[in-house]
Amino acid sequence: MNNLPRRTFLAALPAALALPYLGAATPPNPAPAGIKPLKNAIVYRFTIGDIEAFSISDGTLRFGSPAVMMYPEDQRAAMQAALAHESEPTDSIPCYINVLVLRWGREVVVIDPGFGAASRPRFGWLEDGFAQIGITHEQVTATFLSHAHIDHIGGLVAAGKPAFPNAAVYVLQTELDFWFTPAPDFSQSHRNSAELPGLISGNREKFDILKNQTQKLTAGAALFGGRIVVEAAPGHTAGHAIFRITAQGESLLHISDLVHHAILMFHDPSWVIGLDHHPAASVVTRKKVFAEAAAARTRIYAFHLPWPGLGHIARFDPGYRWLPEALRWDRA
Ligand SMILES: [Zn+2]
Repeated sequence: MNNLPRRTFLAALPAALALPYLGAATPPNPAPAGIKPLKNAIVYRFTIGDIEAFSISDGTLRFGSPAVMMYPEDQRAAMQAALAHESEPTDSIPCYINVLVLRWGREVVVIDPGFGAASRPRFGWLEDGFAQIGITHEQVTATFLSHAHIDHIGGLVAAGKPAFPNAAVYVLQTELDFWFTPAPDFSQSHRNSAELPGLISGNREKFDILKNQTQKLTAGAALFGGRIVVEAAPGHTAGHAIFRITAQGESLLHISDLVHHAILMFHDPSWVIGLDHHPAASVVTRKKVFAEAAAARTRIYAFHLPWPGLGHIARFDPGYRWLPEALRWDRA
């Protein structure tokens, strides 16, 4: 058929077959009774050695255009051009919220549980993901917090109480110290100063609620016999952490908020989002982690990249490229 000139093909169609496509009003196909409208998947299962891993979408944010959200300002035209070149929207930055859940033996581990159930239905889909997998909040044995922004820490607290009553909350000491200094230093940040008092007091409240479960870590801390190593990745916040997960010779690097977009920060790692506390430090960290991960071909998990957030970082001079992993299905 592909070899037939289009006109010949159309002429060969029986008139009755061609009619419905000529713009006549056609009734929509009613959904059969009892069938729910199809929702796209929000849980993706994969493995790291003997660890069963799930990437659960907690929802999707839309930040403003790079012309508002990204720095340096004199690079904004180049940012818009980079997006247009890849046919990506230039009027907003879609920002995915991917929550990583790990399960092996008796352990159930959640890294950055998203916005929390109070943000449903727009966010807080971790609840639906848990229901699909068959995990309850009580079964979670450990949580890790990369940093205390609401899309990460929100899910640790529910109605003024710990959301995971039986779980440790692992966080770098440097992150806690930042929020509890008398006047946290935002002098390098492009953040709106009007929002800072609420941000600071909100985080102090949450950390107080979590006090009895909190385990303060130093950079390089290895948990669960080395299965999870917490590495310092400062810049986005002072105590921003990334997580190296290893089992049976396989590994995954969870890069938290090292990136917020699949094109912008890769095209030029020195382009920063206005939410960074210390943009210059975040650039140094990003360049270091990118160089190492590209050289080692490290499998990456990213909290804010298109769900499920799995992929690799490759050199693409003068910058890098995000290479999303193809989805895979198994029958197990
Ligand atoms: Zn974030």
